Amino acid sequence: LKVTVTEVPVPTAYGPAFEGERIRGEDIYMEAGGGKTQAVELTVMKDMNEVEDGKIEVIGPDLKDIEAGTRVPLGILVEVAGRKMQSDFEPILERQIHHLINYAQGLMHIGQRDIAWVRIGKGAVEKGFSLSHIGSILHAKLHQDFGSVLDKVQVKVFTEKDKVDDLLKQAREVYAKRDARVEGMTDEDEPIFYSCTLCQSFAPSHVCVVTPERTGLCGAYNWLDCKASFEINPTGPNQPIEKGKVIDERLGQWEGVNEFVQKASRGKVVKYNAYSIMEDPMTSCGCFECIAAVLPVANGVMTVDRDYKGPTPCGMKFTTLAGSAGGGNITPGFVGHSKLYIGSKKFVAAEGGILRLVWMPKALKEMLKEKIDRLGAERGVSNLSDRIADETVGVTEDEIYPFLQEKEHPAVSMDSIVG
Ligand code: SF4
Ligand code: ZN
Repeated sequence: LKVTVTEVPVPTAYGPAFEGERIRGEDIYMEAGGGKTQAVELTVMKDMNEVEDGKIEVIGPDLKDIEAGTRVPLGILVEVAGRKMQSDFEPILERQIHHLINYAQGLMHIGQRDIAWVRIGKGAVEKGFSLSHIGSILHAKLHQDFGSVLDKVQVKVFTEKDKVDDLLKQAREVYAKRDARVEGMTDEDEPIFYSCTLCQSFAPSHVCVVTPERTGLCGAYNWLDCKASFEINPTGPNQPIEKGKVIDERLGQWEGVNEFVQKASRGKVVKYNAYSIMEDPMTSCGCFECIAAVLPVANGVMTVDRDYKGPTPCGMKFTTLAGSAGGGNITPGFVGHSKLYIGSKKFVAAEGGILRLVWMPKALKEMLKEKIDRLGAERGVSNLSDRIADETVGVTEDEIYPFLQEKEHPAVSMDSIVG
């Protein structure tokens, strides 16, 4: 029996019109994530008998139990089952949480995975919005949009810190497994890439081209995820792109990709390069996990992730960088990317790859240490992560340059990055 839910049972208005709505300052009733508390979301597949369709639980204080202006930890666990469901579809369903929550008036959602950020406005709470309505939205809309693959949806919303931490641990294991599935595949071996145009509602000319070695810049979609998404929804935002003739191997430019991007951006973007930060880098929407910037004095690139709030050697904080390089434009010298892409052989490959990376936040460096050191060793540089500066070394190019020299960072003796 197929459940058909056509309306979204929430007390606030609901629809794409509210997607870009921002909730700020005095209007915030509840906030979660955004670097202040932990927010995490996960979608997993279960056996049919493990999921009770429409069951929604709020575990921990709900909105009526907290005061206006409170920050809480938040975990959203969506469990789905269906005869046509595959675990490969989990990331696609999970990525829907973003726009489905944003569609509710008075709700704001940014990010994904373990860097989600949710705000609920006072107006929504006055109308009777409860955290269980997040579950109602996801239940109704996932049935509506993905009824072809799922039969049952249940949702748990956690606001208790230890429960959120448990979910976080589970989620990170799942994310790591998803990310590992594409390891070993190469762009050269694969004739088909995938597009993602999900972010065109915010950035109309933006197209992510997702290759085996380059995930979508939000970090939520890798090549296999896009392939699965196309299987579920052949007319959806993830289309196969025959990469076609190689125009420039070093820069990562292909005839088929250019043609696709031209069409999908309605002529706004005529070409871009998958592997370069200096020459026509890929467009960036607003939801990149990290943004890389060229550092001319240090002769390298830096990258900064959303969680790092401090100043960086390019003179801008993450938020300022996001404002100036987002929006679906090509911005030479800047490129948005996923955390995982830093560990790819194709990361700014045209400029020398990982050997160009001279600064990154310490926490991000620690998270990726193993991958960075492995990539460095393959290129003949030992302990590369120890040679990369972070905020404890300095936050200006002048502060970090002596460190790079002392550590014999490979970028110091490479060709000039600005040509
Ligand atoms: Fe898709 Fe890219 Fe947006 Fe991620 S950032 S949802 S891959 S368009
Ligand atoms: Zn985006």
